[in-house]
Amino acid sequence: MSKAFDLAGRVAIVTGGNGGIGLGMATGLAQAGAALVIAGRNPAKNAAAVKALEALGAKAAAVEADVTVQAECRALIEAASGKFGRLDILVNNAGIAIPGPFLDSPPDAWDDVIAVNLRGTLLCAHAALPGMVRRGYGRIVNISSQFGLAGAARFAVYSAAKGAVIAFTKALAREVGPHGVTVNAVAPGPIVTDMNRTTYTAEEWRRRAARLPVGRVGDPEDVAHAVLYLASEEAGFTTGQVVMPNGGEVM
Ligand code: NDP
Repeated sequence: MSKAFDLAGRVAIVTGGNGGIGLGMATGLAQAGAALVIAGRNPAKNAAAVKALEALGAKAAAVEADVTVQAECRALIEAASGKFGRLDILVNNAGIAIPGPFLDSPPDAWDDVIAVNLRGTLLCAHAALPGMVRRGYGRIVNISSQFGLAGAARFAVYSAAKGAVIAFTKALAREVGPHGVTVNAVAPGPIVTDMNRTTYTAEEWRRRAARLPVGRVGDPEDVAHAVLYLASEEAGFTTGQVVMPNGGEVM
């Protein structure tokens, strides 16, 4: 992991930080010196992630939280302030995808995808911003997807929610920029995690990798490098932007 950015003394939250891309980003932020609060619904995964972060020498804590519930998002932000004194960096990463043809998808399934990917992002930002604005400093990084820009068949509602995350990122960046808070989106391409490991066969993954300009699919560290920059003090002139660690699949 790059040591280019120094986050010593900073406090970060990563929602969905107990596995996959979230744990990769939490690890990168911890290695750069930040204290970490990770949030997820599964207490066993939360505990294992905290153990892994502490093994790196980081200060870390977990909060059992469902990002679709406003009270739980508020409690998450308060937990970070209570444990580590304040919140500097919020990474809205928790997400789900339910692939399948749009015409076959029940509207109840749309609600879940929109609730976690979009509403969860709105709720956590809403809870975190008062403190950031008061202190005149904050970094919010929203994890979208390249599907939110390009769209993807079998991912219509997910693409819609991730596109909305990008529009929200730009609008909020305009609103809170004068208060020292930057808001950016990261829109990854194919990263092999629990979310999609079995969505494609091994042969499909191999063919997809071969089609990418860089010749491989990504791993959580590839996303973490982009987030580290956006979370750093040095990125203060970068706001409302979409960074795409995607191996060049979508340009
Ligand atoms: P994973 O399924 O591996 O991880 C998802 C994480 O989100 C888990 O930690 C899960 O924890 C948490 N989570 C899910 N629902 C909720 C909820 N309601 N409240 C709180 N936490 C929740 O997925 P990835 O790591 O692959 O995905 C991370 C993000 O990256 C997502 O936003 C995804 O859309 C995005 N992304 C992923 C890509 C990929 O190729 N993998 C590509 C582009 C974007 P728990 O179950 O404990 O709640």
